[in-house]
Amino acid sequence: MIRVRFAPSPTGMFHVGGARSALYNWALAEQAGGRFVLRIEDTDAARNRPEWTEGIISALDWIGISGENPAFEGPYFQSAYETQHREAAAKLSADGRAYYCTCTRDDVKARTGSEHQGYDGFCRTRGLTEGAVRFRTPDDGVTVVDDLVRGRVEFPNEAMEDFVIARADGSPLFVLANVVDDIEMRISHVVRAEEHLSNTPKQQLLWAALGVTPPVWAHVPVIVNEKRQKLSKRRDKVALESYRDEGYLPEAMVNYLMLLGWGPGDDREIMPWSEMMPLFKLEDVNPSPAFFDEKKLRAFNGEYIRALPLDEFVRRCQVFLDPTWDLGVFAQVAELAQTRVAVLSEIKANVDFLFLDEPVFDQASWDKAMKASAGEILTDYAARLEDVPFDADSLKTALEEVGAGHGLKLGKAQAPVRVAITGRTVGLPLFESIEVLGRERSLARLRAARE
Ligand code: GLU
Repeated sequence: MIRVRFAPSPTGMFHVGGARSALYNWALAEQAGGRFVLRIEDTDAARNRPEWTEGIISALDWIGISGENPAFEGPYFQSAYETQHREAAAKLSADGRAYYCTCTRDDVKARTGSEHQGYDGFCRTRGLTEGAVRFRTPDDGVTVVDDLVRGRVEFPNEAMEDFVIARADGSPLFVLANVVDDIEMRISHVVRAEEHLSNTPKQQLLWAALGVTPPVWAHVPVIVNEKRQKLSKRRDKVALESYRDEGYLPEAMVNYLMLLGWGPGDDREIMPWSEMMPLFKLEDVNPSPAFFDEKKLRAFNGEYIRALPLDEFVRRCQVFLDPTWDLGVFAQVAELAQTRVAVLSEIKANVDFLFLDEPVFDQASWDKAMKASAGEILTDYAARLEDVPFDADSLKTALEEVGAGHGLKLGKAQAPVRVAITGRTVGLPLFESIEVLGRERSLARLRAARE
């Protein structure tokens, strides 16, 4: 059975790269009727916080990875397995595959004359019974990692020092805890970020030394920004939560993340999860860095927004609107808004004019629109609004006529009216907006802008 895992450390916001790894694992589990194990690697007590764990679980849920699907198993918490980690370190020592070591960094430096030299194996034959535990690595030959994404990667053993697997107080290091848990959870495929490739030869040796066949490895490429720099949480917008809060749809996000390093093999890009999932193959993942292009993500999101049934669109907009606003009123302009926004958080500014007593005036829009004959246009148009039939077509014809009276085309005549009604120079189609706003409120706004 395919058993994969996603093993985040709860030390910060949930990174889009983590979400991409999670999705690749999820696709493998789902397509094969396997299991996706969520394991929270919470052993770094100084950096962990419970809210990060909750954030991971809710972000995964948002992209469709949750216990509602029988492929999901967990969450498990690494801290609960410390006994097994300690036992593994003890077993490796008892088997002669590891040994205790009491050397300090300064000791090693004094002997080797260098800060950068790896551990010199000094305690290998000392037969100590306490100290940190070091794994005895082979002295020559190579450790070959067969990686489904990166191919065959060779690591000369000479360059691999006897590395520490447990501290002197017995607490395990990542390199060991991660392997022991993967063994315990019968993981068949380890699919994770490329930054862990350097740990892999060590971990592969640990699997073998613990008497278990190592898993299939796959290290997925780094994600970079437009300057080809690795996405970093200090510099780039990397938190999945920020995209959710901005009004990206989870289905657009999932679609976009899947394509960061993988494609279905033809030119299709917009593809729902149900179509992508069965096609996903680790062998087809491209090892070169994947560019996270927020513009492209926005374009995807706009497409997904436009494809929503109208009532679903209204429902999803709700959290981005003021809770006091009448959804029924919003529904009257929802169709106009649906084609005009790329992310749902843009909705509010497009429709707020309908709900506020006065529009929020954008100063730049005001300065641009309210010049030359603007005042007269507003006065004349207000006069027409008193008795014009109140539908978008008639409202438009009336403004065309008012504009013509001042030698202005509709586009020019519209600007002050739009700012008076909505507060801005851009937004929903003007005449439909006036129709929904209604005669009294529209008139009041034209007059107020005149003062
Ligand atoms: N806890 C590790 C991390 O967050 C994951 C290691 C792994 O996937 O093997 O980077």
